[in-house]
Amino acid sequence: MAAFSRGRQRIKAFRTIIFTRPFTARKFDYDLVVIGGGSGGLACSKEAAQLGHRVAVLDYVEPSLKGTKWGLGGTCVNVGCIPKKLMHQAALLGTAVKDARKYGWQIPESLSHDWPTMAEAVQNHVRSINWGHRVQLQDKKVKYLNMNGSLVDKHTIRAVNAKGKEMTLTTKNIVLATGGRPKYPTRVPGAMEFGITSDDVFWLRESPKKTLVVGASYVALECAGFLAGLGLDTTVMVRSIALRGFDQQMAGLVTDYMEAYGTKFSWRCAPKSVEKLPSGLLQVTWMDLKTKEEHKDSFNSVLWAVGRAPETKTLNLEKVGVEINKETGKIIVAADEATSVPNIFAIGDISEGRPELTPTAIKAGKLLARRLVGHSDELMNYENVATTVFTPLEYSCVGLSEEEAEKRHGKDQIEVYHAFYKPLEFTVAERDATQCYIKVICLREGEQRVLGLHFTGPNAGEVTQGFSLSFQCGLTYGHLRNTVGIHPTCAEELTKLNITKRSGLDATVTGC
Ligand code: FAD
Ligand code: NDP
Repeated sequence: MAAFSRGRQRIKAFRTIIFTRPFTARKFDYDLVVIGGGSGGLACSKEAAQLGHRVAVLDYVEPSLKGTKWGLGGTCVNVGCIPKKLMHQAALLGTAVKDARKYGWQIPESLSHDWPTMAEAVQNHVRSINWGHRVQLQDKKVKYLNMNGSLVDKHTIRAVNAKGKEMTLTTKNIVLATGGRPKYPTRVPGAMEFGITSDDVFWLRESPKKTLVVGASYVALECAGFLAGLGLDTTVMVRSIALRGFDQQMAGLVTDYMEAYGTKFSWRCAPKSVEKLPSGLLQVTWMDLKTKEEHKDSFNSVLWAVGRAPETKTLNLEKVGVEINKETGKIIVAADEATSVPNIFAIGDISEGRPELTPTAIKAGKLLARRLVGHSDELMNYENVATTVFTPLEYSCVGLSEEEAEKRHGKDQIEVYHAFYKPLEFTVAERDATQCYIKVICLREGEQRVLGLHFTGPNAGEVTQGFSLSFQCGLTYGHLRNTVGIHPTCAEELTKLNITKRSGLDATVTGC
């Protein structure tokens, strides 16, 4: 509750700075110019225009090193959530088809997947969203400019299109929402020349075939998960741990499941070089960090998923006095998304300390627009944002990991309720459910307030979304126990948790 009310704090000072529309209407071309037409930028510009501001949004995609480019909508729509979830779905369907045999469907023994068919369908859907965004901007009277923006001064933006044509826009307020792009490793010869990233994989016309995925966080595991699920020979190279920052017991279940269903893992290994062989294959040399031995193997594709860098370098921030964190390159923002220059704001992936997730960028953008227009003074609440890792066995969580809960409250002050459960749909299909697990971390004393909720299993995001709402309302273990489940579902297992880790009792769910 405390976090919730913090998000609703009122800022008084901003009213005086911002609510001067009649004056700005005469002084500047626009009330608001947004640089970046992704999740945050589009939400912010549409909301501000709908509430009566004169708004322009600039969106420009610098092609990837491989030359991949895409339309309006930013990372999520074009090279993130949307194509990723659709390819994840394609992989899940493969598993479902195999399950279907057990349910009586007559399916040929050998199943094959056609990448070009999937890719074309996914890419067409993405293009339809690009078009939808353009139409919405037009309907809401947002001026859309397919131009690269940079700051000239705190009220002036320079815009340049692909042909080098320039224009200048003046505006009262500026919102920076330029997102991020995948990084390449700096010290691996051949990495940039021969590798691809998540900016390319969704736009490949042909199958990447045997693929090495380097990295072990969201992007790496999700991409490796759907590639393996589509039947491709896929190896994940992990230099340290998987899903850093997430509950490590849950991370282990995710990777165990992936291994059990065909993804290979090279644990504690780091790539050294990539060379192209005369056959066209890519030969990767890597070091086993445990034994210090060198290994080689050849792949059709190498996918770098080693993190993302904020798109702040070309914005001319320094000249205008917008402060960044020199280490991360991200823009330093206050609770109201203001940068060090009061009329310049930053939202989404480029802002320091914010979750790199689409719903947070969208919500932050909308709330910022409402504040800029003077419609509301509600701040974005970044606490307890739920998230899902769309790996073959999905993992979703909200709140603290067990490690973090122990660190903040002490091992003796927390109670962990857990259960290993078997989704009903796995039974007839004879699928192994060893990694289907639920863990709820509570304070031990008093009402046993829930600190963290973790779920692996089918439709993990759908399950956790509802519980994240109760989390915002101050969920306790008692609330969970007083909730009547919906039967037969996986989510109902959350309402039945009764075994504590501390008890050491078998946490396997038996019967209804
Ligand atoms: P973006 O959406 O990146 O938009 C920024 C836009 O600004 C881009 O179009 C860019 O080309 C443009 N731009 C950059 N510089 C300029 C400039 N100078 N002038 C004009 N335009 C410029 N999040 C989830 O919540 N769920 C998921 O399932 C999920 N999956 C993901 C999968 C992958 C592979 C990746 C990479 C990310 C995923 N994310 C997911 C994260 C999500 O995509 C981002 O958090 C979100 O898109 C950030 O929105 P944004 O508005 O900050 O930036
Ligand atoms: P992260 O920064 O989270 O992870 C980078 C990974 O690459 C880590 O495993 C890191 O290992 C590894 N790595 C870094 N450098 C090297 C190197 N030189 N060699 C080998 N491995 C290396 O980045 P992601 O791109 O996965 O995700 C970025 C953000 O995008 C996420 O934080 C998330 O918010 C968002 N996202 C959300 C999704 C969702 O909601 N489902 C899906 C995808 C992305 P180490 O731990 O050792 O540093």
